[in-house]
Amino acid sequence: MKYRIKVNKDECLEDAVCFSMDPDHFEEDEDGKAQVVGGSMEGNISAGEFDDDGYEDAKEAADLCPAEAIIVEKLE
Ligand code: SF4
Repeated sequence: MKYRIKVNKDECLEDAVCFSMDPDHFEEDEDGKAQVVGGSMEGNISAGEFDDDGYEDAKEAADLCPAEAIIVEKLE
């Protein structure tokens, strides 16, 4: 499945939830905030696309983000 992940760094609380539970998609940047593995910056949004079976893992991380800073959206 193809999907896109976005992390709004302005909203990130630096609590490490996402990159602790799903390091395939999320990692810590130099400021302690989350970013998308292999992603790129679009303004204050870290974004990256994937094509694998990890969609549910990414969605779970997004659901548990206390800041609601993560968006996971399916691509066609
Ligand atoms: S779970 Fe949310 S608040 Fe926590 S590090 Fe990830 S993006 Fe930031």
